[in-house]
Amino acid sequence: MLDRYEIYDGTDLGAVYSKESTAFRLWAPSAEAVELCFYEKGDGDCLVQQVQMLRSGKGTWYYEWKGDHDGIYYTYLVTVDGVTRESGDPYAKAAGVNGIRSMVVDLTDTDPEGFREEGISWVSGMDMAHAVVTEISVRDMTADEYSGVTAPHRGKYLGLTETGTKNAEGLSTGIDYLKELGVTHVQIMPFYDFGSIDEAKPLEGQYNWGYDPVNYNVPEGSYATDPFHGKVRICECKEMIAALHRAGIGVIMDVVYNHTFNIEDCVLQKCVPDYFYRRTAAGYSDASACGNEIASDHPMVRKYILDSVKYWVSEYHIDGFRFDLMGVLDVETMQQIHDELKSTNPNILLYGEGWTGGDSVLPFEKRALKCNTKSMHGIGMFSDDMRDTVKGHVFYEKDTGFVNGSPEKGADLRFSIVGAVQHPQVDYNRYSYSNGSWASAPTDVVNYVSCHDNLTLWDKFLCSVPDGEEKELLAMNRLAAAIVFTAQGMPFFLCGEDFARTKPDGKGGCSENSFNLPVEVNRLDYGRLTKYRELNCYYRGLIAFRKEHPSLWLTTAQEVAEQLHFADTPEGVVAFTINTEQESAFVVYNATKEPQELAVPQLQSRKNGWQVFIDGDIAGTAPIRTIEKTATVKSCSCLVCCSTMLS
Ligand code: CA
Repeated sequence: MLDRYEIYDGTDLGAVYSKESTAFRLWAPSAEAVELCFYEKGDGDCLVQQVQMLRSGKGTWYYEWKGDHDGIYYTYLVTVDGVTRESGDPYAKAAGVNGIRSMVVDLTDTDPEGFREEGISWVSGMDMAHAVVTEISVRDMTADEYSGVTAPHRGKYLGLTETGTKNAEGLSTGIDYLKELGVTHVQIMPFYDFGSIDEAKPLEGQYNWGYDPVNYNVPEGSYATDPFHGKVRICECKEMIAALHRAGIGVIMDVVYNHTFNIEDCVLQKCVPDYFYRRTAAGYSDASACGNEIASDHPMVRKYILDSVKYWVSEYHIDGFRFDLMGVLDVETMQQIHDELKSTNPNILLYGEGWTGGDSVLPFEKRALKCNTKSMHGIGMFSDDMRDTVKGHVFYEKDTGFVNGSPEKGADLRFSIVGAVQHPQVDYNRYSYSNGSWASAPTDVVNYVSCHDNLTLWDKFLCSVPDGEEKELLAMNRLAAAIVFTAQGMPFFLCGEDFARTKPDGKGGCSENSFNLPVEVNRLDYGRLTKYRELNCYYRGLIAFRKEHPSLWLTTAQEVAEQLHFADTPEGVVAFTINTEQESAFVVYNATKEPQELAVPQLQSRKNGWQVFIDGDIAGTAPIRTIEKTATVKSCSCLVCCSTMLS
């Protein structure tokens, strides 16, 4: 039945605005009738006009309204099987409060100064080996009353446009803090229009991460200073992106194309019942564990997702996408996303969660899962291998990893250091977490030890090493970070990991899922930035070091297999050399409780001596000292030395 729907391949779905007229086109092949309702505002009793739409071929309905209608709100009345439902536009570019009514918008009106001119590929030479990403949320970044951000902008898009903001001790906060960190990109948690915050009510007492899409192509209203007028959220969201770009930071958008807030109220369901969701014999398939899953493999759903990501790139200059529960989406859709987006922006970054939240009706081999990475090209995956090997299993709070009590996991760590590609010195039989190498290249891999989900890294240490002294936990934290930043693949971390971010649950423990807990639990506490300043400086040093050293940016499996060599080491110690044309690097991770003395590799001719850049609690781009023959690596620490080609 659904297969018989005609496919529309035009680019004019939704409301296409010009000063002379606005043309509305809706794909609703199963509808018997569609009417358009125009409203003066996004809410309340203010109907202006109601008109019939006419069938216009390939399952679409069409109406053109002469005149300049910038700012008019509208809905569709869609009648299917005798039942009429009022729906927003699936292709809405603007919406009123809570995203219920769509809005016609003149987008040329919404650009910050110079935004259109910067172009959509303003950064060059970017791939996942060169990127350094931290995960932020609009609200968490500036909600702290001590962030120094002006009160009306705290927790809003505009909070991230304020420069010169400081905490009580004078340390940079907000966008300046991000710039000083040195990251190349931020991954921003959902900022499309989501459903779990009531935008019409004050935000006090409300908090949600927003993994519940309502309007895929409209920015969230609760992050705007005025959620009622459809243009404000667009302007302010673009201001945020423009400010980040001015700071030299790319924007990766966290997108949730795997499910919607619910089925009944979703515009996709109201316009074309049951087309956008995967069904089982008994009801709806639920691989998202949120009650439904999007049928990305249906042609008009695939088109919808493709049109959406293309729109965010062209209109908002988004520099990359992080796909939530990407395993719910299908391999073909992900490949088409890659191919289309790369053709317009060769520097775009694309990666996601290579798993599902539950079982799906989609055949296993068609799911964009981590184990199917090699059947796609240019789609990266979060490495749960790295995450759990370094600090213990994510679901068992007492479980420990290499840095916090299980030094024997050093042999397993090799799998992650090589970026999950095939390497002659990795024992894939011994390593049981993944079924062999899953990446074609290190650029398929996102290395991380913490993200918004589960315990923060600091809280994981608090829970798994309850008797640990703070200085021991700090050493574990440094070693975990050093591993992420010196492994092959793209380093990623939850913002605030660099100042021991914690999410106390209010009952003496730590929250492992804070999606709807108060903002006080979720927001960045800039007081900790002062308290853990040394840790923050260590992260900044790691990032700066990584950005200067090409041995950490290998982009092919062949380079990794040929240029990265592990040394024989005792249990709890991992050491390897990377030899590239420009430099050699020698990296040691010591997870034991004693200092370790290791022989340093023989230097190739035409290179200068070994210079130490990372040692103990110091990391950076300035050499700390030189070493010959042997290196002493302090307990629970990382040592990195490099030797460059003599010119
Ligand atoms: Ca919303």
